[in-house]
Amino acid sequence: MKAMVLNGSGARLEPSEREVPVALPGEILVRVRACGVCRTDLHIVDGELPPVELPIVPGHEIVGVVDVVGDGVTHLKVGDRVGIPWLGYSCGACAFCRAGRENLCVSARFTGYHNDGGYAEFAVVDAGYAFKIPDGYSDVDAAPLLCAGLIGYRAYRMAGEGTRLGLYGFGAAAHLIAQVAAHDEREVFAFTKPGDDSGQSFARSLGCAWAGASNEAPPEPLDAAIIFAPVGPLVTEALSRVAPGGVVVCAGIHMSDIPSFPYRLLWEERVVRSVANLTRQDARDFLALAPKIPIKTRVQRYDLADANAALGDLRDGRLQGAAVLVP
Ligand SMILES: [Zn+2]
Ligand SMILES: [Zn+2]
Repeated sequence: MKAMVLNGSGARLEPSEREVPVALPGEILVRVRACGVCRTDLHIVDGELPPVELPIVPGHEIVGVVDVVGDGVTHLKVGDRVGIPWLGYSCGACAFCRAGRENLCVSARFTGYHNDGGYAEFAVVDAGYAFKIPDGYSDVDAAPLLCAGLIGYRAYRMAGEGTRLGLYGFGAAAHLIAQVAAHDEREVFAFTKPGDDSGQSFARSLGCAWAGASNEAPPEPLDAAIIFAPVGPLVTEALSRVAPGGVVVCAGIHMSDIPSFPYRLLWEERVVRSVANLTRQDARDFLALAPKIPIKTRVQRYDLADANAALGDLRDGRLQGAAVLVP
């Protein structure tokens, strides 16, 4: 099979020919039809996240069709269309798993980081971590739901019930979560890089009440803000824009350093928190919700062989919505 492989952090992905992986008991082999490109992939490729397995096939927004079912798998059959997200395994036994917080499992394994992911023609996954994709989404359109959507939605729930929501960084995750927030009758304020007029009009076209530069003040104080851009100074920027009791949620896995800041920005019960990974319940909840709203994804498709170009476009902020690779 064809695969795009990372052999060392900071390197380009290498096109490679590999053996099709074998589904062991409890696993499924999936023929990949589409795989989204997530900013986490970029952090892995660029070495901002230290590699745990090399060589590795990145990609954790996989949509495909079950090709082989391993022994003992009864809830999926050959031909089922499934999605494979970032969480590829959790132990079920540690204190976090037992408390329903498998996203923090001490033995978690992540797709495209510990296990080979979806920048390939086939991928193998533990069948307990694959999810049926709602009908009505094409393979390519469904791919961004699997991380931008799932982890974005986890961040959205962590932002609380306030009605005025700021989104810092209007990329793959924000363009989905803005639609959830609009559906919940919240006012969304979209913050982009200064000068990103097309990003701001994209945000307005999705129902955002206001869009402006990340260093601008929104017309009203925010109840909560979610930071999707990997830019530490946005934490203090967002803190300065939330009302007393407001929450700032950092949704990414990596961010540049957060500058020191005066305590008065945090005072009055403001909260800064991060969101890590996802639980399978997050996946079930979001994949049930997406077609009801319905959330529409904006995708830019690339051939699998052009994975480096897709990562480059994401790195340089040239994407509107989400990049998706098609083998
Ligand atoms: Zn665990
Ligand atoms: Zn991701």
